[in-house]
Amino acid sequence: MKATSKTKTDWESTLCDLPASLQVQVQRNAPLHAYAALRVGGVADYFVNATDLDTLASITGIAQKRDLPLFLLGEGSNICISDKGVRGLVLRNACEQVALDTTTRVSTGYNFMRLFVQTMQANLSGLEFAVGIPGTVGGALVSNAGAYRANICDLVQSLEVVEDGERKEVHPDWMEFSYRDSCLRRAGGKNAIALQVTLQFKPDSKTAIRLRAKDFQYQRILKQPWEPSAGSFFKNVYDKALAESLPTLPLSMKQAGVVPTAHLSEACGLKGFQIGGAGIASRHANFIINRGGATASNIRAVAEHVKQVVFEKFGVHLEEEVLYVGDWATKNGD
Ligand SMILES: Cc1cc2nc3c(=O)[nH]c(=O)nc-3n(C[C@H](O)[C@H](O)[C@H](O)COP(=O)(O)OP(=O)(O)OC[C@H]3O[C@@H](n4cnc5c(N)ncnc54)[C@H](O)[C@@H]3O)c2cc1C
Repeated sequence: MKATSKTKTDWESTLCDLPASLQVQVQRNAPLHAYAALRVGGVADYFVNATDLDTLASITGIAQKRDLPLFLLGEGSNICISDKGVRGLVLRNACEQVALDTTTRVSTGYNFMRLFVQTMQANLSGLEFAVGIPGTVGGALVSNAGAYRANICDLVQSLEVVEDGERKEVHPDWMEFSYRDSCLRRAGGKNAIALQVTLQFKPDSKTAIRLRAKDFQYQRILKQPWEPSAGSFFKNVYDKALAESLPTLPLSMKQAGVVPTAHLSEACGLKGFQIGGAGIASRHANFIINRGGATASNIRAVAEHVKQVVFEKFGVHLEEEVLYVGDWATKNGD
């Protein structure tokens, strides 16, 4: 979402002018840390919880047309919000509607794991990989969420979006999906949000679906830390030459040319590294966790250290999977 130099007054008058038919309650200087999985972050100048699609579409459309700063928040499981907070309006997507079928239409504020459970109960297969992925369907689309060689992009049939103030249906190509990426993640990308999506599922028995999901869930329980985190902090590295050069990397990964960032971070001895309340989890070297009392600046400082050490040892530039949100005038957020 574009950030601009418009002032508080622009949003104040805009929010006052919204039609009474829209259910909008505006909170000022709203603390955001409770909305972020990492449990860090300052305040939003303005905060609105959108529980219906018309409100979400209208406010977004106004922001896009008038160039007002707006950040669309899902469940905050893939972001690190600056200690200085977010200027302008934070619009929380709490629109939860679903029509289940082999072709399911779901609003983007719907919880991703809840959608898996609903589809399983309806004998619909496709979302087994979503077990253990927190957040909304919208957040999953934006980062093309996936696990165990499956990604949400494989299920998408069409989407309803708001782009440059216009509400319209688009083909999945519009999203430009790639590994943990889409046009909606990129700085300077489309001026748009996703409202609803149509996902394609296959009929299967709920027993078979549950068994596959249980296996994935078990793997997660073994590997992931329990402390607050935003999941894997960096994307994995696709580099065949690097993969082949690593003696302890499993053969299947060498063949696929993929190096898990946790492998590189662990090889650099970074497990347990800590700055303030933020540190690298001892259970998973690609998770930056809040051990208690961490600031967003602590988390970013740990991330910068990992990037530097991994570059010095392997010559690899790591790319964040987690998005830095809000007022980061400097990398330390000072
Ligand atoms: C413990 C843990 C495990 C995880 N495991 C995985 C995993 O296995 N695989 C994986 O892919 N991810 C994983 N993640 C990351 C995260 O769960 C996903 O990226 C999730 O889909 C983010 O959804 P969200 O609603 O929390 O998005 P947020 O964090 O709220 O937002 C992320 C970005 O998406 C934008 N956004 C959100 N909704 C919309 C919308 N409707 N339209 C436009 N932009 C929007 C926001 O503006 C923001 O830029 C994990 C996270 C945690 C904490």
